[in-house]
Amino acid sequence: MTLSELIPTLRRSLPTGVGREPWPLTTSLGPDGELAVGGVSLTELAERYGTPTYLVDEADVRARCRAYRSAFPDGEVAYAGKAFLSRDMVRWIDEEGLSLDVCSAGELAVARSVGFPAERIVLHGNAKTPADIQAALAYGVGRIVIDSRVEIPVIAAAATGRQQVLVRVTPGVDAGTHAAVTTGVDGQKFGFPLSSGAAAAAVARVLAQPELELVGLHCHIGSQINRVDALELAARRLVALMAAVHHEHGLDLPQLDLGGGHAVPQVDGDVDFDLAGLANRLRLAISFECASQGLPVPRITVEPGRAIAARAGVTLYRVVTVKRSPGVRTFVAVDGGMGDNPRPALYGAEYTARLVSRSVGAPSRPMTIVGRYCEAGDVLARDVWLPTDLRPGDLLAVPCTGAYHHSMASTYNLVGRPPVVAVRDGDSRVLIRRETEEDLLRRDMGGAR
Ligand SMILES: *Cc1c(COP(=O)(O)O)cnc(C)c1O
Repeated sequence: MTLSELIPTLRRSLPTGVGREPWPLTTSLGPDGELAVGGVSLTELAERYGTPTYLVDEADVRARCRAYRSAFPDGEVAYAGKAFLSRDMVRWIDEEGLSLDVCSAGELAVARSVGFPAERIVLHGNAKTPADIQAALAYGVGRIVIDSRVEIPVIAAAATGRQQVLVRVTPGVDAGTHAAVTTGVDGQKFGFPLSSGAAAAAVARVLAQPELELVGLHCHIGSQINRVDALELAARRLVALMAAVHHEHGLDLPQLDLGGGHAVPQVDGDVDFDLAGLANRLRLAISFECASQGLPVPRITVEPGRAIAARAGVTLYRVVTVKRSPGVRTFVAVDGGMGDNPRPALYGAEYTARLVSRSVGAPSRPMTIVGRYCEAGDVLARDVWLPTDLRPGDLLAVPCTGAYHHSMASTYNLVGRPPVVAVRDGDSRVLIRRETEEDLLRRDMGGAR
């Protein structure tokens, strides 16, 4: 279901430059111009929990999970926990029947604390530490994705039973994403390159370890990928390697994990990712390649992170100052910034925003929203259309902040991290509380005077 089907009036009512695509599915616009998510007004939420605050729309998360399950009815959908993890998020993922990717002992600890089934956990990481591997083996995670040569004997030696593993392959496919998140090409840190023969050699090494059971191949070629053809090409190349494994070792691998990276609309005008199209093209491409190689069709796993969590999130900020330089630009400084959202600084990510604290009378013009942190690069969004009478105390909402926001937040400038508040059916509750000065001081072991 799209947002416009849910709330046909929303698109019409939004001012220039702010479309419906990046907002949570339950976003509604009241008659008085009041914006609500999960049936709770954003001004009410800001008053109750303070700002900045991350909101997460539980219904949106669950709807995205269901959309994936129905697009891949015979496949496995593993949520990439690094996008956003909390105990309740893990529970929702479990209840919706998804598997869970973790990439550290810390992420695993959250999953373990609510008893997420170990057999549906997959451990990733290009440099898994001994602590990560120990924690994974102790909990009995279903699969570990082998990412480097040294891991093979280490995991084999530490394994207590026979550990299922996949080999991460770098298929040499450039999905046209930002360099910081392009992971499918040779010459970056993840996986074993297909082209050099390193992937085939890794498969042989894994097969030589009786403690390891190779169940499949894995790739993850980037993030914010809009090109279904790139994902399809990666799948075809992995099936070719599966055929080589069949010929060389007489082994048919039962699983093919194609990673995540599916794009989400961040700002008005971004097109939604064609999930059904991806599922169909992958199914067709894989069954065609397998038939021509005489291989049984493996079970597909996809690992969406952003596509599950991003649109469920909205961040609320208060305007602190407005600096108007006539003829240049207007800077709107808010009480958050790169500490709660480092993505514009890291990847040039784009955002939109909307004034929610009052109805808009004044005309709008493009403004730059900046944060409170001591860096000139602390810019949250450029050219956002906001009313010219914007003033300190006004409340802004920034959508599409559910993935890689709280999980990437820092305490730079010793500003505590914002809380994460879940909304659903007219109610709200804190998933993760605000970080206080006391929290920040607790780690500082210097003496008081
Ligand atoms: C980060 C990651 C994902 C999820 O990426 P998104 O862009 O959030 O979909 C999936 N698989 C692996 C191995 C990852 O590292």
